[in-house]
Order: sequence, then C-alpha cells, then structure tokens
Amino acid sequence: MIIRAQCHCGNIEVRFKTGRSPQDLNPRTCPCRFCTMHGASYLSDAQGAASIGIRDSDQLLRYRFGENSSDFLICKRCGIYVAAIIEEQGRCWSALNLRLTNYRDLEAPQVRRWRDQSRRERIEFRKAVWAPTVMNLHD
Ligand SMILES: [Zn+2]
Repeated sequence: MIIRAQCHCGNIEVRFKTGRSPQDLNPRTCPCRFCTMHGASYLSDAQGAASIGIRDSDQLLRYRFGENSSDFLICKRCGIYVAAIIEEQGRCWSALNLRLTNYRDLEAPQVRRWRDQSRRERIEFRKAVWAPTVMNLHD
C-alpha cells in the first residue's frame, strides 16, 4: 500500500510504500523533548520505500539538535513537522510522522530511550528500521 502525507500547506509531500499494514509496522513515539512537544509518532519500514517531495526548498527547515544524528524536516510556511531523516554517503532513510497520515490515531508505544547510545549506534539502529528514501526537490 501507499500511505500519503503532506504538511498543512502542501509544500512537503510524502509517499510511503509498504507491503505491511500500518498496524503491523508498530508505530512508535520517541521520548525526546522535540518529539513530545510535537506529539509526533512514527511509521517506518526498512523493506518499504519513501519519497519526500518538496515544492519550495526555501521553505524547508532541517532542524538538528543533540547528537545531530538526524535532520528533522519542518515546513517553514506552515510549521508542520513531517519526518526525521538520515543522509549518509548519498543515501537517505526516513521515519514519517504518523500524525500527518490517515492513521494518526493508531496507538504508538514509546521506544527505548536513546540516552545510553552513541551517535554511531543511533544512526545504525535507524538505518536498520527506517525506510530507504528519495528526496525530490521540485524547484
Ligand atoms: Zn507546509
């Protein structure tokens, strides 16, 4: 199935392709302050694929904090937090903010805390569970 999501103003669009149902993908929340403040929860599938389309890249904010192990994609125009991504050696992986999808009400238990993990461990863990992703900048 293809799960579509977009920010409030439509500047950022995500197509997330998966062979599993959203329930089977075990949506989860992250306990960090950023994710808690946004009320974000996540969908990802390492066997799936995502594409993130951006109409106006000047209106894309890549927020980073802490270990700088991911970029948090936020639309500057409407303020919506869309997805977390990792980019490495020309490849990209993402976890989609479930709240932007039609499955926003699915239960999403909290993942383990990251605190004890090194930056490298966090990145490797995410690459193993996040969806391979292509970023398309349309402008
Ligand atoms: Zn927007």
